[in-house]
Amino acid sequence: MAKPNKNKMPVKMEKLMSLCKRRGFIYQSSEIYGGQSACWDYGPLGVEVKNNIKQLWWKAMVQENENIEGIDAAIIMHPRVWEASGHVEGFHDPMVDCKECKRRFRADQLTTDVCPECGGEFTDVRQFNLMFKTHIGPVEDSASIAYLRPETAQGIYVNFLNVYNSSRQKIPFGIAQIGKAFRNEITPGNFIFRSREFEQMEMQFFVKPEEADSWMEHWKQQRWNFHMRLGIRPERLRWHEHGPDELAHYAKSAFDIEYRFPFGWSELEGVHNRTDFDLKRHTEFSGKDMSYFDQETNERYIPYIIETSAGCDRTMLEILTDSYEEEPGEKETRVVMRISPLIAPIKAAVFPLVKRDGMPEIAREIQQELKKAFPIFYDEGGSIGRRYRRMDEAGTPYCLTVDSQTKEDNTVTVRDRDSMDQTRVKIDDLKSMIRNAIENYKRPETVDTLEDTYVE
Ligand code: ATP
Repeated sequence: MAKPNKNKMPVKMEKLMSLCKRRGFIYQSSEIYGGQSACWDYGPLGVEVKNNIKQLWWKAMVQENENIEGIDAAIIMHPRVWEASGHVEGFHDPMVDCKECKRRFRADQLTTDVCPECGGEFTDVRQFNLMFKTHIGPVEDSASIAYLRPETAQGIYVNFLNVYNSSRQKIPFGIAQIGKAFRNEITPGNFIFRSREFEQMEMQFFVKPEEADSWMEHWKQQRWNFHMRLGIRPERLRWHEHGPDELAHYAKSAFDIEYRFPFGWSELEGVHNRTDFDLKRHTEFSGKDMSYFDQETNERYIPYIIETSAGCDRTMLEILTDSYEEEPGEKETRVVMRISPLIAPIKAAVFPLVKRDGMPEIAREIQQELKKAFPIFYDEGGSIGRRYRRMDEAGTPYCLTVDSQTKEDNTVTVRDRDSMDQTRVKIDDLKSMIRNAIENYKRPETVDTLEDTYVE
């Protein structure tokens, strides 16, 4: 694989963004007003995929682990939380402005001394706090300052004692949460990769300090498995270990899972050993003792935290980029989203071949029955070829067509998204066929024809 060119717009990103808009996965926020930069809206198909990602994560964390509890904490927290966490003092990015074109850049991401846009001179580096600030109540003074949370993790830490006291958990145990986070990013971009409003899926696992390293290994493995379960190509994933210069002040060790996006290898999520930093700080700032008493060993200690912190939107982008493929054909190029049936927004589409001879009625009946178990799409407009192509772009694994033979033998034509093969399947067997695809999908080996191509 050649090295992606970070300075050029990859063709795949451009095409993917256009498909997302065309098919209703993702739109620019407030588009009719010219758009709100770095904010995105999920459309009818996008919200289905996003919900599937969140459900799968919740299942993998909360439902499949007896020692993990879920919570849903408020976005606005006591401002002291962000002093204790270090965000008020230290959640900064270094920023410079171009004196000529007034564009703003993150100083640590620049590779040149002069503005890459116009060649102008930069201002001195200033520190820019990434938290969105607001005021609570009618008086706008320093006593009423509040922040939109820049991460969901703190909502978990401040509830450590609550969850411990109200559940029957003992250390080691974890607390999981999915929710929105906000960062006033200086240079957002790459579609939904870096936005100002995004969603995180975080699980914080509280352990005995001497067991932290082995739990770290455990959660690294679990998080890797999650991406395998999403059906992502393993050769596009890798671990990145933070070196001493990258490690956050609170972390003892940190590993990121990176995906090879068309714009280069970039972080999807992290697994971090945060030591006892967080609970110690909250003990200090709140005055509440957040240590843990182990009744078996008669020991009191402040637990270490192994954090798994994933971005829901980045996972979405990972799935979309990994799925998008173009297959050159004799007449035209086929665009197909090879999304795993497990997370595909629509599991099957039902078509009557023509709008007569009782075919729509039978197709509706099939749709009504399958709809009880899966999201099913019905379409009777346009040529069958056009209907197939629309479903290829939506990532729908199967198209089920009712034709003249259906009345004779109770079968439909099943057209497979990946191979385009057509077979006849009994109506009674459709449900188990779809269920089998959801549980046992294997992606075909294909060549990415758009890899390393850039907009000229
Ligand atoms: P980056 O270095 O890319 O800014 P980070 O290391 O600051 O990310 P964390 O603070 O560890 O990120 O946040 C955990 C996860 O939240 C990230 O791995 C990512 O998936 C997601 N995330 C963070 N910032 C953004 C953002 N601006 N837009 C979308 N997702 C984000």
